[in-house]
Amino acid sequence: ETIGENLDRAVARFGDREALVDCASGRRWTYAELGASVEEVARGLVALGIGKGERVGIWSPNTPEWVLVQYATAKIGAILVNLNPAYQRQELVYALNQSGVCLLVSAQQHKSSDYRAMIEESRGECPALREVVYPGDPSWDRLLSRAAEVDSSRATDRAARLSCDDPINIQYTSGTTGFPKGATLSHHNILNNGYFVGELMGYSEQDRVCLPVPFYHCFGMVMGNLGATSHGACIVIPAPSFEPAATLRAVEQERVTALYGVPTMFISELGLPDFDDYTLTSLRTGIMAGSPCPTEVMKRVMSEMHMEEVAICYGMTETSPVSTQTRRDDNVERRTGTVGRVLPHLEVKVVDPATGTTVPRGAAGELCTRGYSVMLGYWAAPEETAQVIDAARWMHTGDLAVMREDDYLSIVGRIKDMIIRGGENVYPREIEEFLHRHPKIYDVQVIGVPDDRYGEEIMACVIPVEAEDPPTAEEISAFCRGQLAHYKIPRYVRTQDAFPMTVSGKVRKVALREMAAKELG
Ligand code: ATP
Ligand code: MG
Repeated sequence: ETIGENLDRAVARFGDREALVDCASGRRWTYAELGASVEEVARGLVALGIGKGERVGIWSPNTPEWVLVQYATAKIGAILVNLNPAYQRQELVYALNQSGVCLLVSAQQHKSSDYRAMIEESRGECPALREVVYPGDPSWDRLLSRAAEVDSSRATDRAARLSCDDPINIQYTSGTTGFPKGATLSHHNILNNGYFVGELMGYSEQDRVCLPVPFYHCFGMVMGNLGATSHGACIVIPAPSFEPAATLRAVEQERVTALYGVPTMFISELGLPDFDDYTLTSLRTGIMAGSPCPTEVMKRVMSEMHMEEVAICYGMTETSPVSTQTRRDDNVERRTGTVGRVLPHLEVKVVDPATGTTVPRGAAGELCTRGYSVMLGYWAAPEETAQVIDAARWMHTGDLAVMREDDYLSIVGRIKDMIIRGGENVYPREIEEFLHRHPKIYDVQVIGVPDDRYGEEIMACVIPVEAEDPPTAEEISAFCRGQLAHYKIPRYVRTQDAFPMTVSGKVRKVALREMAAKELG
């Protein structure tokens, strides 16, 4: 089944039920109306000459048009290229040219970004780009008005030529460990993944799913949009980009049943001064994913937001994204100590990265995943693809995991972040969790720095609670002594007021390591 066929089926089954709500503009679509709007955009794109396999970029915060374009491109077999709304001009030019975008749908502006000005300034550098369409501007109305030129027989022919294994989406990774890579995904990849995530959440047409997470990322467009529409649930867009108050207001006003977020989003919602004034009793579930979820935050979400079933998902852009998820009847220990177990029809194994052999349960190794979710490859980068997908189609995730006796997985960190000190493997996350308890530490990242004697030494990069009173290296080692093995105790402490971050909210340890190595000379 293609994404277009799946949507048509939802339209036939759930026609007059609500499919999409945009809280910022007050606009609403039933499934029947969503089906008609998607068809209109799809025909408009065909009339503009967009064919199967051609790249259509989208550069916008969360809007209903984002959703229409997502389904319309899938319907005609064009490849949607998700462009990060935080990109600046040079990044935009790189991504447009790397993927060969010929038509771009873009917001005109959002917050401090003037997308339109950046696009106009870049057009000369993007030879493939033929057309730019801005929702809310006459260019969007022109696109819609051309829909009438394409009759239904042409639309049927078009559908017949599509295959589930066609590439229909290029999603860029977050760029946490290097330059973002464009993962090329098929209908089969992302529709199945969204469907199974929704299935494990128990979604039905009774559910209303609130998405403060960006659509440009798989969390929003796959786990959110496809997870909802493949089960007849309603997509609720609280605001174009994350705002904690707007999110809770949407939950209350739209009687939302499921709320998504990365851990930092939940932290800021819980921290709102008027948190207690929102009625959140309609919530039954949610998903927290994207980066390690602190135990304390999970516990507060479950008790203060009434979300008995909140799920943890683990995944990566290259695998559509989700590989493991907690289950509805899991206890708090599993929800806080693991990232769940493997999704139906997928396989996971934990291997020794040096030899490739599976390590025993309880031991850390590289997580590999296999099945329908593994991307077709990185766009126009066969060598990079071959580095991560082996001949047996296993995706080497670059993440270190432990398989427990009960088949649940814990993530211990990324291979690239692991420190080898004097032959001992040290996982930064364990030290970070411990240092979080120090009263002078607001936030901390642990990295390895080159060392003549041990190969690497351990450095704690600390954001202190009070800038004038940062913890010293002596204070930190005294705090760790007797609590952590001697080789895990940080030798160096570096104080700073912020960490270098990706746009999806992850700390870039590569940049921290470069800064530290330079300083130590
Ligand atoms: P890049 O590949 O460009 O360096 P990235 O890996 O951060 O960036 P994404 O595909 O957005 O880009 O993120 C996938 C990664 O996020 C995983 O490989 C893993 O390291 C981390 N991750 C995702 N979910 C979880 C989770 N529940 N717990 C811990 N880590 C997670
Ligand atoms: Mg990655």
